[in-house]
Amino acid sequence: MVKLNGKSVYKGIAVGPVVVLDHREQKVKRSKVENPEEEIVRVGQAVKVAQLQLHKLYKKAVVEVGENSAAIFEVHQMMLEDDDYLEAIHNMIRTEMVGAEYAVAVTGDNFAEMFAGMDDDYMKARAADVKDISNRLIQCLSGRGENNLDFAEPSVVVADDLSPSETVQMDKEKILAFVTVHGSANSHTAILARMMNIPALIGVPVDLEQIRPGMKAIVDGMQGEVIFDPVASVCEDAQCRIDKEKEKLRLLQELKGKENVTLSGKRMNIYANIGGVGDVGYVLENDAGGIGLFRSEFLYLGREDFPTEEEQLQAYRQVLQTMGEKKVIIRTLDIGADKQVDYFNLGKEENPALGYRAIRICLKQPDIFKTQLRALFRAAVHGNLSVMYPMITSTEEVEKIYAIVEEVKKELEEAQAPFKVPEQGIMIETPAAVMISDSLAQMVDFFSIGTNDLTQYTLAIDRQNAKLDDFYNPHHEAILRMIQMVVRSAHKYGKWAGICGELGADLELTEAFVRMGVDELSVSPSMVLPLRKCIRELA
Ligand code: PEP
Ligand code: MG
Repeated sequence: MVKLNGKSVYKGIAVGPVVVLDHREQKVKRSKVENPEEEIVRVGQAVKVAQLQLHKLYKKAVVEVGENSAAIFEVHQMMLEDDDYLEAIHNMIRTEMVGAEYAVAVTGDNFAEMFAGMDDDYMKARAADVKDISNRLIQCLSGRGENNLDFAEPSVVVADDLSPSETVQMDKEKILAFVTVHGSANSHTAILARMMNIPALIGVPVDLEQIRPGMKAIVDGMQGEVIFDPVASVCEDAQCRIDKEKEKLRLLQELKGKENVTLSGKRMNIYANIGGVGDVGYVLENDAGGIGLFRSEFLYLGREDFPTEEEQLQAYRQVLQTMGEKKVIIRTLDIGADKQVDYFNLGKEENPALGYRAIRICLKQPDIFKTQLRALFRAAVHGNLSVMYPMITSTEEVEKIYAIVEEVKKELEEAQAPFKVPEQGIMIETPAAVMISDSLAQMVDFFSIGTNDLTQYTLAIDRQNAKLDDFYNPHHEAILRMIQMVVRSAHKYGKWAGICGELGADLELTEAFVRMGVDELSVSPSMVLPLRKCIRELA
């Protein structure tokens, strides 16, 4: 039995078998070989195994995401047969007498660099594909399995770190808990764990080499500890606590259908945050009054190319139709910072959180933005939609957005497509937006305060940096005064203001938010009923 501690980002408890995701870079050493022809045979065998893996992936993807998105696996299969690529690997093995792994790694890097230097955007994007197939070949050569995100049974996922794109690719029904060595409490992966109601621990000093896949683990988010290979008595105790938690959740269920109203009659809207169509079930299960933040960028993660207008339309329409008359606020693309997508070719930045992200990408690359807006406006006829724009810092940005909205309107009119321009709001998540909130309030329909980024930018603390978690204090007087200022600006011009950052679910602040006049709190679905309970008990 091994007990380790970490920082808890969701206070649940779970028991189950472990799966390990190991991303540590495979360091391929240059090794001399006596018999290069043997290495070339090994390359041939690895190519066959990789082809089989890709074929399986293709078949699975066709069923799950459709033929267009699955096509990338066929492209990878073709690239693995490319004569130039294979010849370059063989030549290197023969002339330099090096091992197959090393030749594949160097050839992969060389080809990727060559693609990245091309003018054509399509060819540029192939750099990531060459890297991908080369890594796959190296994995096959070294006998290391690939990180399979599709587990056979519900499991505790143990990893060095998890990216948002990996997290979205996992089948949520099959994840019992997350345990990671790295990661920060304010990262999007932590946010996803909260949304999925699963215990998650970060900063746990696990030696991944020592963890056997399939071994049992208890993850206790309340104590902030994970126990690998627990003895029977510890398992029994954990099961007892799981049952007690279930009972607490059962009691919360009794609040379903009840109003969010304080004892003195003040009402509050409680909505839920989601990352994709698959999360709408959690919203309904927890009786949220609407969706206050649909992080639409998750539609762009974990895939090889931009989602088309039709694909987006389908996703938005499905959410709207499922929610019926209830409000659904979809935030436009907030890619960049920790949400990286290869096909955007964003390049490396010194300070990605202060960099090319969110609305900045949309204003610089309006084609990407317009595709999303067309899909949103077409979806708007199917339900109660509002859109909101992230990372706003100035009134000029809002003017530029409205100019693009006008163009999109004209395009849709010309195409005679049924559409509607929905209510439009902005996220308040930069200190600049707070300070000019009185001007912004006159231009938009509503504000939604993104306290995760607002805290990061106000306190000058990278929300991704786990070392700073102790300094990341969203209860800071500066943040609370900013929230008050934003609410006053909104109300002055007859607009509403909500909070969709994680702070909205902080029960220690609920009373303060009610007093400030916050109109809406949008929280992870699991927090809707606890928040309702808290509001109903306020005097
Ligand atoms: C926020 O910044 O508070 C927010 C809700 O947006 P995200 O966490 O997706 O950056
Ligand atoms: Mg944000």
